Amino acid sequence: MKRILVTGGAGFLGSHLCDRLLEEKADVICLDNFFSGSKDNIRHLFNHPYFELIRHDIIHPFFVEVDEIYHLACPASPIHYQVNAIKTVKTNVMGTINMLGLAKRTKARILLASSSEVYGDAQVHPQPESYWGNVNPIGVRSCYDEGKRVAETLMMDYHRQNKVDIRIVRIFNTYGPRMAINDGRVVSNFIVQALRGEDLTIYGNGQQTRSFCYVSDMIEGLIKMMTTEKITGPINLGNPVETPIIELAELVLKLTKSRSRLSYKPLPPDDPGRRCPDITLAKSLLGWEPKVSLEEGLALTIDYFKKTMGLI
Ligand code: NAD
Ligand code: UDP
Repeated sequence: MKRILVTGGAGFLGSHLCDRLLEEKADVICLDNFFSGSKDNIRHLFNHPYFELIRHDIIHPFFVEVDEIYHLACPASPIHYQVNAIKTVKTNVMGTINMLGLAKRTKARILLASSSEVYGDAQVHPQPESYWGNVNPIGVRSCYDEGKRVAETLMMDYHRQNKVDIRIVRIFNTYGPRMAINDGRVVSNFIVQALRGEDLTIYGNGQQTRSFCYVSDMIEGLIKMMTTEKITGPINLGNPVETPIIELAELVLKLTKSRSRLSYKPLPPDDPGRRCPDITLAKSLLGWEPKVSLEEGLALTIDYFKKTMGLI
């Protein structure tokens, strides 16, 4: 039986990954400091014989014997990662060094959940892995963007210098059940606002784009990356269907049958104008591509929020 560590395992993606790894009969250690994650995401696993939850902050070293590490710990929503920007840098730098040290000692394979944010406000569309990006190193998003860039650097240096077996994935906007109600990311904001009959808050003119991947597709991609031999990445994982934010708002209104209106707010600084993954590499090297359409995925996510908010 493989023993697998999931850092950030109580978060949105991490909790789905724990579910999936347990289904595949792994022994799962979920590590989290509950900064943006919640015990509610994994409460259903508490009695599972092969699930173990550990409260720990990865900026401190952690000792355990494992075969694989999925390193996801890091707040992903701009409001969460900006609330304590220095901590975000520490999580990405010190946390990643600690996890790489663990991987080196135990000879575990380690996968880093990097981000499309390494491309910054991209000037190449769609973004291939070979694009080096356009990141503001001193802006309000840099704790996260540059944090992920250093985390990738550390992964590659431990690989080159210490032969650590690494996998880097660059995740593009992913959504689904278990996003926190107060998460602040666009999909959860719009759905919660629509269900409450509040205005949907469009930042800027809503013409900026994102490409939204449903969570089950992303988890499949993470597992394919971890289990594919002779590959380090970075590899983009995301849904290549590019959607303007205004269209997302209209789709959420349609699917929730909400009578909410749109209200326009200032665009946050350094908010990327266009984002869309080139997934040629993921298709050819992993045989992976997303299957769930935005409309299907939103319907499932809306159901989840209705239940969580006590509406059904
Ligand atoms: P999330 O905020 O729901 O989950 C992150 C988890 O990490 C939380 O449970 C949080 O409590 C935990 N955590 C944060 N700092 C920690 C620390 N110092 N020590 C221990 N635990 C800590 O976010 P998510 O959407 O599930 O994202 C998971 C990973 O995927 C993150 O690394 C994120 O950067 C990356 N990612 C996600 C997306 C996305 O669209 N969801 C996009 C790009 C990258
Ligand atoms: N956004 C918005 N209204 C919201 C939340 C976000 O218009 O209530 C916009 C935001 O400005 C960005 C896009 O939606 O252009 C995606 O934002 P999110 O925070 O989900 O992710 P990221 O910017 O990190 O891709």
